[in-house]
Amino acid sequence: MVTHPHETPVPTDRTTEGTAKGPAEKKGATVKVTIDEDKCCGAGSCVLAAPEIFDQREQDGIVILLDPEPAEDQHAAVRDAAAVCPAAAIALADG
Ligand code: SF4
Repeated sequence: MVTHPHETPVPTDRTTEGTAKGPAEKKGATVKVTIDEDKCCGAGSCVLAAPEIFDQREQDGIVILLDPEPAEDQHAAVRDAAAVCPAAAIALADG
């Protein structure tokens, strides 16, 4: 099979409709994560579900929140973590 690299110049479209949507426009939703250390029983499920967002203290296994406003590609993992937390110590607030 032969692949043809397309070298067609991309036509510049100068008739874009403008960007008058205002600076408040958001790309996707934000999710704010909060943890309740008092509830956390150190099960570590959240760390398994979202290792980039949660860690655990070495001494007692209590959760550490690494990123309270995770990037969009982490939202699913964070929701997973909240869902699997046996202590319901992870709260999510959609922004
Ligand atoms: S899953 Fe819940 S109980 Fe377990 S470490 Fe994470 S926050 Fe704590």
